[in-house]
Amino acid sequence: MFFRSPANAGSDTGAAVDDLQDVGQRSLIRLIFAATGLTLGVFCALQFMAGNYLFASFELVCTGVLLWGAWRIVRVRNLLPWIYLYLLPTFSFLLYIIVIPNASKTAFVWVYSIPVLSYLLLGRKRGSLISLPFVLGALGLYLYTYPVRLDAEGLIDLGNAVFCGVMILVFVHLYETRRASAHQQLQRMARTDALTGVASRGSFQQSLEQSIREAQRNQSKLVLVILDVDHFKTVNDQYGHDAGDQALRHICITLSERLRASDTLGRLGGEEFGLLLRDTGHAAAEPLVDLLREQIASKPLIYGEQQIELSVTLGLAEWPADGQTVEQLYRCADQRLYCGKQQGRNRTISLSGATATT
Ligand code: GH3
Ligand code: MG
Ligand code: MG
Repeated sequence: MFFRSPANAGSDTGAAVDDLQDVGQRSLIRLIFAATGLTLGVFCALQFMAGNYLFASFELVCTGVLLWGAWRIVRVRNLLPWIYLYLLPTFSFLLYIIVIPNASKTAFVWVYSIPVLSYLLLGRKRGSLISLPFVLGALGLYLYTYPVRLDAEGLIDLGNAVFCGVMILVFVHLYETRRASAHQQLQRMARTDALTGVASRGSFQQSLEQSIREAQRNQSKLVLVILDVDHFKTVNDQYGHDAGDQALRHICITLSERLRASDTLGRLGGEEFGLLLRDTGHAAAEPLVDLLREQIASKPLIYGEQQIELSVTLGLAEWPADGQTVEQLYRCADQRLYCGKQQGRNRTISLSGATATT
């Protein structure tokens, strides 16, 4: 067999990067909820001991809610409302403890956690939007509660508080900007085949799964094509591995020039490629795919002084007529490709080996 179905073998690496981030974020939120809940629990006990029963009871309720949230968070679908439900009351509380009567003079240090928590949980854009007003609000409340003494000592106190806050904001912002761009680069790399620049195997697999779901919703068809370069081993043996690499790039360029924007080309492995033609059935796909085959056969690769003749064999399978699932579609297209190879290569096989074009 020319092709081993990737359906079970590989999930999308780009999606895996996303999944990893989601799992990481959920466990981070869980940790933050639990840590905040436990910290509040300690303060609740201290407030009870100090005789502030009303405040202690409020903290006790918050502790319970936070610990329940920490337990629940791994199962919720949309994290964003939970994050806001946590951040807005927490930040309001942090501002409130600056102004409550008999508040500790060091209560304001909790404000420094505002940018850290915002950026960690919401990323750069949302994080800066939510943390800036709270930090500025906290500064205003602090100045209102503890008017600045305009002597050297007073200004040093103010300088310490303000510059420490500004530095935390700037560093957190820079760090998150770099982290987000590294994450994007990682996603791009995972979704793209490094040699040819077309979709990676995993990314192609994900597009196919998604397109089947869309076709199901819209009651439309789609065609999966598996393409294998003919006698590619000979190309490598005769002209060298570098020529082989260039031949793969050349084929991808030729294919991409002719494809619609809605079509997807992916490298399934080695010298095998997948083509996904959306909103198309056998009848419309076959002439288009055969044209691609002709283009490749009629456009040799110019490699230095040499011309390298190339050809491909293609197997088509239509959803849902040839298979309902990704696995069935792959198997069908693969079998047709195999038929094409047996019949002499440089062919497009569309219907159970019956239709062969040369
Ligand atoms: P067939 O017409 O039956 O498909 O014959 P083939 O020679 O194309 O098939 P075979 O599976 O025997 O050989 C495939 C070759 O593709 C072997 C492998 O070294 C080569 N190959 C796989 N990946 C790459 C690559 O990234 N670059 C280069 N240059 N060669 C590759
Ligand atoms: Mg092969
Ligand atoms: Mg081959």
